[in-house]
Amino acid sequence: MTVKYIDQIELKNKTVLCRVDYNVPYDKNMNITDDTRIKATLKTIKYCMDNNAKVILISHLGRPKGKIVPEMSLEPVAERLSSLIKKEVVFIKDKIGKEAKNAIDNMSPGNIALLENIRFYPEEEKNDEEFGRQLAGLGDVYVNDAFATAHRGHASNESITRYIKECSAGFLMKNEIEYFKKAMSNPERPLLAIIGGAKVSSKLEVLKNLTKNVDHLIIGGGMVFTFLKAKGLNVGNSLLEENLIETAKDILEKNKEKIILPIDIIVAEKFENNSPAQIVDADKIPDNTMGLDIGPESVKEFGNLIKTMKTIVWNGPMGAFEMPSFANGTNMIAKAIAESGSLSVIGGGDSVTAINSSGLADKMSYISTGGGAFLEMLEGKTLPAIAALDK
Ligand code: AMP
Repeated sequence: MTVKYIDQIELKNKTVLCRVDYNVPYDKNMNITDDTRIKATLKTIKYCMDNNAKVILISHLGRPKGKIVPEMSLEPVAERLSSLIKKEVVFIKDKIGKEAKNAIDNMSPGNIALLENIRFYPEEEKNDEEFGRQLAGLGDVYVNDAFATAHRGHASNESITRYIKECSAGFLMKNEIEYFKKAMSNPERPLLAIIGGAKVSSKLEVLKNLTKNVDHLIIGGGMVFTFLKAKGLNVGNSLLEENLIETAKDILEKNKEKIILPIDIIVAEKFENNSPAQIVDADKIPDNTMGLDIGPESVKEFGNLIKTMKTIVWNGPMGAFEMPSFANGTNMIAKAIAESGSLSVIGGGDSVTAINSSGLADKMSYISTGGGAFLEMLEGKTLPAIAALDK
């Protein structure tokens, strides 16, 4: 696949349509509670401004399902972006068409505008061709910097690309593509994947795809218990997907040399932070308890392996890390990765939250901005919005 990057196309004095992902969290008074996603696009926006281009930003927020939902307006985002970039951001509320076109015509080179939530239009999620053509008509070139939405084929990231002269990936998207390539397509070996999280079912395709590529695969989190059960062990009241025991057995059988499961588990009777915890061997989980984290021996064993890896990809926590009593496994794995000196790529909402709360984020090579998009890449899929940039 050959995707052009923003620094490979001519932007001077052009009107750049830039798809960003400003799906930021609001509190009930519509105050932005985390502006990471806005900050992540500043490099691309500044680059466009430095090239005297007009920048027209397109984003969605939430799931308004094709209707105008005032609480999902992007107006507060325009204000926050303006204060971050120290420049006025024109907020275009008007329906896309003549009014929006006039507002853009009135802008000067180097100015920025943000369109209202693109999902207020039912055509967006339908990937409507005519709507894509109308959007394309607002500018000269297209830049996609919205990796977190790239697993969706919508009008503002898919059909639009058919009606505009030139398409490219912004700097954030470029990083996502390049780091993923370094980690998965052309990795320095040994390559280790660490997969955790709640359920096998949501990561089955990821596990199947990774086993084809990685040298080692550590499995942790709630999904471990379906694998332990597949080995014939008792898992007490731990998370279990009965219907996937046979599949887990098959995965284990085919990848005996690669898959590493925890050897000890922290268990408790209740899914509560204060429920008294004990460390047990993975083959001795008592009936009345559930496994909520990996144990200290597993942390040691995983840590020793991590030290010797050249490339590490991580998705999903090792335990129910939201409760401090069961966060140690996840935190210690984060620490081991940070100290390993390997190329480390981390993705997925909860692993990123865990890394951020451990204060080790800046020790990782790359933290993906995508949750679902990152998982689909791990599944080996080509994301529709990235495929659309390949002209
Ligand atoms: P995922 O979105 O699939 O990565 O899953 C993340 C969730 O898995 C987090 O909310 C964790 O609390 C949960 N989780 C991890 N380990 C366990 C466990 N042993 N039992 C129950 N939930 C878990």
